[in-house]
Amino acid sequence: MQVISTVRELNETVKQHKLNNKKVGLVPTMGALHKGHKSLMECARKECDIVVVSVFVNPTQFGPNEDYDKYPRVFDKDIELCESAGVDIIFHPEPEEMYPDFKKGGTLKENLQVKENSYIIKVPEKYTNRLCGKTRPGHFDGVCTIVSKLFAIVKPDVAYFGQKDIQQLIIIKNMCKSMNSDIKIQGCPIVREESGLALSSRNSYLSEVEKVKASTIFKVLSKAVMLFKNGNNNKKDVFEESLKLLDKDINIEYLEVCDCNTLDYCEKIRHNSFIAIAAKVGNVRLIDNVIIG
Ligand code: AMP
Repeated sequence: MQVISTVRELNETVKQHKLNNKKVGLVPTMGALHKGHKSLMECARKECDIVVVSVFVNPTQFGPNEDYDKYPRVFDKDIELCESAGVDIIFHPEPEEMYPDFKKGGTLKENLQVKENSYIIKVPEKYTNRLCGKTRPGHFDGVCTIVSKLFAIVKPDVAYFGQKDIQQLIIIKNMCKSMNSDIKIQGCPIVREESGLALSSRNSYLSEVEKVKASTIFKVLSKAVMLFKNGNNNKKDVFEESLKLLDKDINIEYLEVCDCNTLDYCEKIRHNSFIAIAAKVGNVRLIDNVIIG
């Protein structure tokens, strides 16, 4: 397994593989890797000749009051996980490698200022004025910017994203369509703890007690699916009943039903929609969702 930190080396290495007709898969991540990330790598390993994983905490997708500074960075462990998944190349650049305007050694404020000085993709409002976009202004602009940069460097045949971040997945699919890209975007199912809690790098902020409370988030979603399967597609009724299962210390930011292709809000729960939730356990913001049908 190769660890590469410069754009130039990655670009040249992948170019050679492509000249040899190798199918290249890319798994973009922010590190602090867990079994959820590993499932994307394993999917890529099955389908591609060369698997590239990027590990990069992307400053442009964080807001000023978010956790860019304290986001877990455990690269040595990440290397081990990638190795165990049979990854060929890890790309682990410094921020100034990805954003030439990034000020090395700068303060958090200066680091996040990079967005003002760089070319940034603007995601249409119809995708960002809902769900996570409501409380995270500019987040998806930052996500699409870093993903586009990675696509430009690696030019993968397939890129793998988790259904865990379903709004991100749908936005990236629509971005590729809109930008005439032929990169295939492959969504992969959510990996969960036995309790049902969706794996997330941010779970490391939770205490054991909070993890138990957080596992009720998936109970709410599962109950909603069960009620739908039993014939109730009325959002209000279904949510009212399901929310009885949520731990009382959890604060909901949103609970919505949206269309799987367009992110439009749905009046009723229906096939090809998903139910998404964002909720806070203490100060930790968690997201989860289930696809219907
Ligand atoms: P992140 O490092 O959080 O940016 O996530 C990198 C990729 O891993 C994204 O495509 C996520 O959707 C995906 N991912 C994160 N958690 C999970 C999970 N529990 N199951 C499946 N995919 C996940």
